[in-house]
Amino acid sequence: MSGAHISTGDMLRERVASGDELGTKVAGLMSSGQLVPDELVNRLVEDRIEQPDCANGFILDGYPRTVPQAEILNGMLKAKQIGSMVVHLKVDYNKIIARLSGRRQCPQCGSLYSLASNAPTISEACDYCGAKLVIRDDDREDVIRGRLEAYDRQTIPVLDYFRHADVDCQDVDANDGSPQQISQGICALIQKRKAGGDLALPQQAGPQ
Ligand SMILES: [Zn+2]
Repeated sequence: MSGAHISTGDMLRERVASGDELGTKVAGLMSSGQLVPDELVNRLVEDRIEQPDCANGFILDGYPRTVPQAEILNGMLKAKQIGSMVVHLKVDYNKIIARLSGRRQCPQCGSLYSLASNAPTISEACDYCGAKLVIRDDDREDVIRGRLEAYDRQTIPVLDYFRHADVDCQDVDANDGSPQQISQGICALIQKRKAGGDLALPQQAGPQ
């Protein structure tokens, strides 16, 4: 099964690198520390999903994050007759906090460690260069709690929107299991939907 993985962050960076009109606009906003407005992100997503690598399907990662983005996306997919599925990865917040607050990084060579699953040989020292490991600002418990609160406030309503809009929403338990096992579970859900016939993609005009 092939499909494009679209991360909004990567998409924005690629667009900036392309140097076209929209890319230049995004670069200006990002360099002045401003958020890229919904309308612009929506236009970029619409452009992106028309690229040939999306003809066999695609995964949107990090989008939509707000209800207005979700409304636009749903309308866009309906207009293009593209079937969709929402995958909601459910992880207990205490587990998320434990995983993230256990992350350490080497300030010298950038190597990443997890005290739970990939601890350094010598406590708090980098295996490669011996530097004292640090906790990134992003991984401090108060920062993580703030991000989870923002998620509750902004992103849970997105899920409610899709449920009420009759979009297929699947909850996936991501508390245990390796990333590979969780991804296999998601692939099985998609295959099941495809077999049901309603996740068929529109016929593409022209050669692919
Ligand atoms: Zn190091």
